Amino acid sequence: QYREIGWNFDNSYSCLPELFFESSEATPVRSPELVVLNKSLAKSLGLDVKKLQSEEGIEVFAGNQISEGALPIAQAYAGHQFGNLTMLGDGRAVLLGEQITPLGERFDIQLKGSGRTPFSRGGDGRATLGPMLREYIISESMHALGVPTNRSLSVVTTGESVIRETELPGAILTRVAASHLRIGTFEYAANRGTVEDLRILADYAIQRHFPDIEDNEDRYLSLFQEVVKRQAALIAKWQLVGFIHGVMNTDNMTISGETIDYGPCAFMDEYNPMTVFSSIDVQGRYAYQNQPPIGQWNLARFAEALLPLFHEDQDHAVKLAEEALFKFEELYHNHWLEGMREKLGIQNEEEQDEALIEDILRIMKKHRADFTNTFRALTLDKPEETAMNGATDFTHWYEQWQERLTRQEQSKPSAYQLMKNVNPAVIPRNHRVEEALEAAVEKADYSVMERLMDVLSNPYAYSPEQKEYSKLPEPSNGPYRTFC
Ligand code: AMP
Ligand code: MG
Ligand code: MG
Repeated sequence: QYREIGWNFDNSYSCLPELFFESSEATPVRSPELVVLNKSLAKSLGLDVKKLQSEEGIEVFAGNQISEGALPIAQAYAGHQFGNLTMLGDGRAVLLGEQITPLGERFDIQLKGSGRTPFSRGGDGRATLGPMLREYIISESMHALGVPTNRSLSVVTTGESVIRETELPGAILTRVAASHLRIGTFEYAANRGTVEDLRILADYAIQRHFPDIEDNEDRYLSLFQEVVKRQAALIAKWQLVGFIHGVMNTDNMTISGETIDYGPCAFMDEYNPMTVFSSIDVQGRYAYQNQPPIGQWNLARFAEALLPLFHEDQDHAVKLAEEALFKFEELYHNHWLEGMREKLGIQNEEEQDEALIEDILRIMKKHRADFTNTFRALTLDKPEETAMNGATDFTHWYEQWQERLTRQEQSKPSAYQLMKNVNPAVIPRNHRVEEALEAAVEKADYSVMERLMDVLSNPYAYSPEQKEYSKLPEPSNGPYRTFC
């Protein structure tokens, strides 16, 4: 019956040496109910939406039944958590296997909140409904924004409560990812395995994500260079939409270049490079402006893990690693600059563009202007709608910018069109997300979330409805805080 649903699992990860995983089935739950299903994603995976909604379909999402072909495991990994190396592993997730889609693509299918595993330590292995819905909303919104990310396929409630500060409804999220190979997986191999284990893992990553470099003479150095490129591109995208990941530990940084682990993340509202939302990030290690340098720091940990594969002479290996690592800054900067030019409708290059960009950011910071809505107002050529309207510095900047737009071949309408394609009209605003979660968790009313998801599904549409959703919340008492 699972074949009828469309499940088509392969389990290539389970062919790795045993140190990389533990067999671990989900713990069955009492009375699962499907509360959210991503129908378009389901279809693209080759799954039958109707059958997914049937009892058999739901039992798989709940971990009560193992689909034919699935081989549930918990993955082992390590990670630098706020700077300190720790041995970890999936403590509340299981990988069911890799779904091979009708187009022949391969995606990890993972249940999150599915019960204890050998890596759970003191934890209960469970997840609560609010955070699972939050991950669903933000990850799907990131996808719609064009930011590489893992996806969310479904959320089921378990019919069981989970004890946190209070009793909360339990839930399981089904995630879909290019893979769950992390920098931390390599740190784990380097610390717990042999060089041969490390090599097998690296070969697996190359085969899965970078088949083009398979025949390179320095394939392991190429692997590192490719991941540097993907992470530089990814973090530039985060910066350009004002996304703050919140917990950029090396176990949360992928080899594929997808965003994973939507715990304490949130979108910046008022532009301030020091913005932090996570309640546990008291030092601001993962603040908005620190994301690029932390990305590079994480890649340095990746290089350290890979060193034995770069060259037998380890001094030489370090030199090779450093050279590749230093490229991150330039790669990142180029992506960011190109992206910022686009956000301002600039389609050719002038030396002074960077100063023009730095200027508007400085003025936005001074006037505490909303990041998304400032670019939205500029895109609609409604400078009067920005928080900086009337200020001399902004008026002066605006004139300079308008003049800059005349110094390119393309017309102004074409510049504004370009801006519409890159400046989102809406992002998942914290108060809107909270409102949707509250209705769902407290009243089992999913209509608020559905409307929100609808508005977020095409953030570059500039529809009338999106104007409503771009409004700022009423001023609140304190800063917005997120929790893991
Ligand atoms: P994160 O901060 O989300 O990257 O998680 C760090 C580690 O804690 C991972 O190994 C998780 O699997 C584990 N973890 C988080 N919550 C739980 C839980 N409720 N039960 C068991 N392990 C957990
Ligand atoms: Mg994690
Ligand atoms: Mg997490």
